[in-house]
Amino acid sequence: MTRPLYLDFQATTPVDQGVLAAMLPYFSDDFGNPHASEHQYGQSAAQAIAKARADVAKLIGARSSEIIFTSGATEANNLLLKSAAHMMADRGRRRIVSAATEHKAVIEVLARLGKQGFEVVWADVGSDGLVSIANLDKLVDEATALVTIMAVNNEIGVIQDLATIGHICRERGAIFHSDAAQAAGKIPLDVGHAAIDLMSLSAHKFYGPKGIGAAYIRRSLQRDLAPQIDGGGQEAGLRAGTLPTPLCVGIGAASALAAATMAGERTHLLCLQEAFLEELSARGAKFAVNGTLDRRWPGNLNLSFEGVDAEALVMAVSDRIAISSGSACTAEALEPSHVLRALGFGAERTEGAVRIGFGRSTTLDEVNRAARVLADSATGLAQISRSAEWKDEGVYGNAAE
Ligand SMILES: *Cc1c(COP(=O)(O)O)cnc(C)c1O
Repeated sequence: MTRPLYLDFQATTPVDQGVLAAMLPYFSDDFGNPHASEHQYGQSAAQAIAKARADVAKLIGARSSEIIFTSGATEANNLLLKSAAHMMADRGRRRIVSAATEHKAVIEVLARLGKQGFEVVWADVGSDGLVSIANLDKLVDEATALVTIMAVNNEIGVIQDLATIGHICRERGAIFHSDAAQAAGKIPLDVGHAAIDLMSLSAHKFYGPKGIGAAYIRRSLQRDLAPQIDGGGQEAGLRAGTLPTPLCVGIGAASALAAATMAGERTHLLCLQEAFLEELSARGAKFAVNGTLDRRWPGNLNLSFEGVDAEALVMAVSDRIAISSGSACTAEALEPSHVLRALGFGAERTEGAVRIGFGRSTTLDEVNRAARVLADSATGLAQISRSAEWKDEGVYGNAAE
């Protein structure tokens, strides 16, 4: 049996073959402890890690010394947000500004900081999914410790205006963090230009391995941040533990590859997105796009089909295409997406939302096929739910007689 077509590239991406090839020697051949600098085994691993660190830094316009390897974006968010909040509290700043559309790996960290006495406030988000700059501008003041706004949303793909937010923060002396897990390797990022102080990355969202990510920490902040994990003093004392050389090499190779292919990939995905939406309409599907199409990563489409429950649709197509309703974590919990609710949508639109993710390897044929499968299944499900409603009305009609 052939597997269904994979269209869930926001949940994770496959490791690129070239990236995998670069990683393999570091499992059993070049296996030295990168922190054992007295012999050749350790030195060889350390050299590979230094190159990887430089490649990650280059992807976001940072210096090598500003990159700390972590287990992923979740750990990077925890390290950066918690340490920055406590550092700023020591300076009398206890307000944290964010948005309700953030990933759980930010929201839950802020919930914990809230319990510890920080004042967490949420900037307005429009129905297009973009943070209101005017509102954020009012919320960031001399009491603000930090602002955390993601670069690209994992559910709806919209791209926030990081540079404008960064400069508001810089002007008021607040720290600016961005969870760039869905943006790194996909859109150009420049921590200098956007005045970003802290940033979180995850390799498995851009064709690198799972279990490795990076925290960018602007040089001037490194002295003052406290680690979450104490131990042997690795990573400038900010994150102890022996570095996993193959994974570090993996995120480095994925970064170099992404930097080289980013522009072409975006053009390819824009073509796919356009073709997919056209085919859906041509097939008679009735749907709405969630989040603006104007500032969006083209590999992400989030759609609500009229009169269709997302769970039912995802199940109906699951033997042919692999897509998700909402984000992976909320899908497990089977609760409506907090992102779509933050956009102000009602139950029908929120419960009808499916996320379709295109990737580097996705072809035009595949998206056309997927559009036909989705359109036909959605139309079929909408008819069933309409006739069910009609029957309900019939029952009530009979009862009244
Ligand atoms: C995937 C993702 C994370 C979590 O990253 P891990 O490396 O899997 O911990 C955090 N934030 C966003 C926006 C993501 O898409």
